[in-house]
Amino acid sequence: MESFTSEQIAALASFVAADRFSTGQSHRELHLHDISPFYGKLPAGIIWPTSSEEVSKILSWTYANQVPVTPWGAGTSTEGNPVPTCGGLVMDFTQMNQILDIRPQDLQADVQPGVLRKELNRQTGRHGLFFPPDPGADASIGGMIANNASGVQTVKYGATKDYVMKIEVVLPDGRLIESGCLAPKSSSGYDLTRLFVGSEGTLGVVTRATLRLTGIPSYHLAITITFENLEGASEAVAVMIGSGLDPAALELLPPVLINLMNREKKLGLPEVPSLFCEFHGISKAALEETAAMARELCSDCGATGFKYGVEEADRKELWRARHEAWETIHRAHPKKETLIVDAAVPISRYPEMIVHSQFLVDQYDAIGYVFGHAGDGNLHVVLVGDPHDEKEWSLLEKINHTIVEKAISLGGTCTGEHGVGIGKRKFMALEHGGSYALMRQIKNLIDPKGLMNPGKIFD
Ligand SMILES: Cc1cc2nc3c(=O)[nH]c(=O)nc-3n(C[C@H](O)[C@H](O)[C@H](O)COP(=O)(O)OP(=O)(O)OC[C@H]3O[C@@H](n4cnc5c(N)ncnc54)[C@H](O)[C@@H]3O)c2cc1C
Repeated sequence: MESFTSEQIAALASFVAADRFSTGQSHRELHLHDISPFYGKLPAGIIWPTSSEEVSKILSWTYANQVPVTPWGAGTSTEGNPVPTCGGLVMDFTQMNQILDIRPQDLQADVQPGVLRKELNRQTGRHGLFFPPDPGADASIGGMIANNASGVQTVKYGATKDYVMKIEVVLPDGRLIESGCLAPKSSSGYDLTRLFVGSEGTLGVVTRATLRLTGIPSYHLAITITFENLEGASEAVAVMIGSGLDPAALELLPPVLINLMNREKKLGLPEVPSLFCEFHGISKAALEETAAMARELCSDCGATGFKYGVEEADRKELWRARHEAWETIHRAHPKKETLIVDAAVPISRYPEMIVHSQFLVDQYDAIGYVFGHAGDGNLHVVLVGDPHDEKEWSLLEKINHTIVEKAISLGGTCTGEHGVGIGKRKFMALEHGGSYALMRQIKNLIDPKGLMNPGKIFD
């Protein structure tokens, strides 16, 4: 559906203020793609609701009129998750972006879905609190809930699913429901909240969320550790975690990527396989003890250099560079697109996955950067190429396929944090077997007309 009739336009325009519904070409084109190589079908219109009541009225109408709806947060997904595959209506949450309440005494915040995570952390920071899940991009809370996003701090703090206490959801037919509660725990019935987290907008639309917050740690310690090879660096990951060190970030970086970061950000880091780590604690002394133990453990895994006590400004620059790794790679290869592997495996199998992935990239002489959230067993291979060059792109697809199949065979997953979207659908049956059919039944039960974010998770 790439256009609306005049009656449909009049109906949709009646649900919101005049400037919050558009059928303009540029608005529609701006909602055609995220950062993935997937392009959707031009939506017929974009709507920017500001309240749950508006969302409910709009979805009642789209349901009655068989109009597909694709929710849109900040559009930073990597797998085509918010890309409309059937045209229809895009529901953009950027204007539904109020922080409704912060309750420091309960460590909670109530937010609308369009709130951006950095703004939330600016506001909660005044109370000494923060919302830890940190995808590199300044994503919206609705998009993070829908993708169950995580990031460099997940190794210590967990993913978005661990911070969603209660949600309000508008179902595909316009019914508004609430799930979860404000108590820190509950054993009450099916956990519908977790069903909606990670459902990528295919089961309904999150219109409000109560998020759990946590205290900002008093002391931070960043450490960079260098190794002779990637294997040693990835082995040190399991050793450090297994020794109870509790890192707040544990990232693996290869020399080629450090080289790009040095060139762009003048970091002056040694261009060898490295771990970027961070520890959080209640005192400097405790962190120094932790650092001494980390040093000893890493030496046993062949570490060649250990720099700790990175100054505050350098620490922030280091993490900014790591968060912007994808943009740095993109800037180094203008006019190319990226295919991002996001597999995750048990941490004991991480070294094997890293070595295997680097081997494949080298064997096929591809442009590929192997790195990842090592502490979560989460491996990213950013493969660079031209989707219009069939030979080049099919090679990248082959590498992607081989890595994901290996991850699944080791008990892992095709996506540790980016979600399924369009790009990872082909791996779902392999990963989930019979439970993929159950997922489809759940989808059919809640969205029998298949109108909510069609073409995602399922073919
Ligand atoms: C440079 C860069 C680095 C990144 N690093 C990470 C990382 O480390 N970890 C990580 O997890 N991700 C990472 N990402 C991916 C991305 O930021 C996350 O997946 C994020 O959760 C997407 O949020 P968004 O607001 O952009 O949502 P969008 O991309 O707009 O949408 C994501 C999904 O949510 C749905 N949706 C949006 N709003 C709602 C709603 N209110 N109700 C229901 N469904 C909704 C959409 O339909 C779509 O399926 C990175 C992206 C970039 C560009």
